Amino acid sequence: MENDCIFCKIIEKKIPSDMIYEDKDTLAFLDINPVNQGHTLVIPKKHYKNILDIPSKEFLKVMETVRKITPAIKEAVNAGGINIGISNEKIAAQAVFHLHIHIMPRFENDGLKMFPSKKYKEGEAKQIANKIRFKII
Ligand code: AMP
Ligand code: ZN
Repeated sequence: MENDCIFCKIIEKKIPSDMIYEDKDTLAFLDINPVNQGHTLVIPKKHYKNILDIPSKEFLKVMETVRKITPAIKEAVNAGGINIGISNEKIAAQAVFHLHIHIMPRFENDGLKMFPSKKYKEGEAKQIANKIRFKII
């Protein structure tokens, strides 16, 4: 439990949520401002800021809950597809600093836009790929 963390308060049932799944390590509840009906957040019960500080074992538990409940969400709201996303750090639009995975049902003509894409300059992609490969631990 982290002071002033709204998702820790949801875990502690100090503030209400529309909970859809709970186990020993994870919790899933409806996003209060959904992009579409059924938009769900999955969180670890232990407080981690985001993907940059959660240990592998804990992250896998969260992902397993995502895997388990995604078909149920898709069927329940009759979605055509599902986007899954995580915001990490303020620059990436993270607003709540307790790791959460968005499960976002998609519908025909739902008006949601994906990220606009850019182009690499000549040789740039190879350079960046090398730089990243070198940093993986
Ligand atoms: P982000 O940190 O940008 O990935 O998104 C935080 C998400 O948490 C937003 O989609 C909010 O609508 C959602 N949210 C914030 N407070 C609550 C709450 N009390 N219950 C459910 N969802 C919430
Ligand atoms: Zn928290």
